[in-house]
Amino acid sequence: MTSPPRGRRHTASEATSRHVTERNQAPSPNRSRDPRRWDLWRRPKPMIAFLLAVETLALAGFVLAVAASALPSGQEWLRFAILAAGGTMHILLTSRQEARRRSRIDGVIIDLTAVWIFPAALLLPIPLILLLVLLLRTQRWLIARRPPHNFVFSSISIATAAALAHLAFAAIDRAELSADGAFWGLPGFGAIVLAGGVYEVVQLTLTGGVLALGAARLRSWSKVLGTLQDNMIEAVTIGLGAVTAILLVNVAPAVAIMALVTVVFNRLAELGQLQSDVRTDSKTGLFNMRGWTESAERVFRRSSRDTPGPALLMIDFDDFKWINDTYGHPAGDDVLRHVGGLLTEETRPGDIVGRFGGEEFLVLLPDIDVESAGQTAERIRNTVARAKIVTTNKRGGSATITGRTTSIGVAVYPQHADSLETLVQAADAAVYEAKEQGRDQVRYARRKYETPTDSR
Ligand code: GH3
Ligand code: MG
Ligand code: MG
Repeated sequence: MTSPPRGRRHTASEATSRHVTERNQAPSPNRSRDPRRWDLWRRPKPMIAFLLAVETLALAGFVLAVAASALPSGQEWLRFAILAAGGTMHILLTSRQEARRRSRIDGVIIDLTAVWIFPAALLLPIPLILLLVLLLRTQRWLIARRPPHNFVFSSISIATAAALAHLAFAAIDRAELSADGAFWGLPGFGAIVLAGGVYEVVQLTLTGGVLALGAARLRSWSKVLGTLQDNMIEAVTIGLGAVTAILLVNVAPAVAIMALVTVVFNRLAELGQLQSDVRTDSKTGLFNMRGWTESAERVFRRSSRDTPGPALLMIDFDDFKWINDTYGHPAGDDVLRHVGGLLTEETRPGDIVGRFGGEEFLVLLPDIDVESAGQTAERIRNTVARAKIVTTNKRGGSATITGRTTSIGVAVYPQHADSLETLVQAADAAVYEAKEQGRDQVRYARRKYETPTDSR
């Protein structure tokens, strides 16, 4: 698996349509029926505008398309019924696993039901495509656990992607569509590839747009567009959807096989998620020590003695225990989460940010000299000190924590250490010194830490 930008890992290993998830926002306590109290209104204004504009345009387009369509034929209804049955079976057989998977994902979720919706885009008229999306999404809603505005927008994105894929396919393959026999010749294949591309790009644009506009600051591309792995899974899902379409036209009963294939595929997609989970700190979304060490070692192997860097910053909160004692552990957790986000924002995409444990963080900065490493550490110390962290107090009321200080140790290869391990030792010793000197400061390692040569 490739390392994600900025040491963050938000792998959303699922396969079909994209959704927006905002797990870091606590699940809304007030899922109010009163429209004035919807979560949606608390999101950034550009995102609300984008979301409403897309939804309005899409719904208008759907109405026009449905009004212009002829009544579906008997064969189209039959194909619809088969896809609806397959999709329903898929959702029923994977609902538990899917709920588990979704609760872990932060960022883009790839929804595997494209295996059913994409063939509908190829073979069915727009009214039946919309009906299928509605049917499958309604069943999905029961396990979605996301704010309704997200879910509605995702559903409309899927429907829009499917309708546009349908138009792209029909534009090229109009002649063949009416004669199923010729359907799968070379032009037909080209039309399927084009439709698949449209299906993916439309979702990428709509979901990416809403995620980018909804974020206070754009933290990483993978969070908006999905990781490479997400996009590969999505491409495979669309490919499976094309296979479903081919089976549906030629050997309709064999579509049952696809239901089994998708259940297994769902499982495989979850494996990717599990793989990334073992490298992620669940509280902050940063690397945990395992993930951090793997990525840091990779950076270290690429470094050379002739150029400065990598540098290591070890960041330890001052008197963190006081936060827990004063506001309670949940507030302490909020502070850790918030600062994890700040560290990602304050560093560059190639930097590796991890939670060392407790209230300590590690940042590895490749290709950086001693002076710039110190400046980066100072910048982080200042940013954390200026942060206003809104959280709860022990009575469950609202509290804002500000002015929290950190002690930061800086060690740079090759001046202060000759390996990753000794770099950590050197930075740790520097933190210790910063604490001794009164906290709230950045300290460099004082000497060179060397790996004992007789350690064999
Ligand atoms: P110092 O300035 O010397 O670093 O003081 P400190 O209180 O930050 O350091 P100490 O090591 O004494 O205590 C760290 C505290 O961090 C104790 C522990 O309960 C708390 N802590 C560790 N992990 C977590 C966590 O995940 N959540 C919360 N809320 N607290 C944590
Ligand atoms: Mg500590
Ligand atoms: Mg501390």
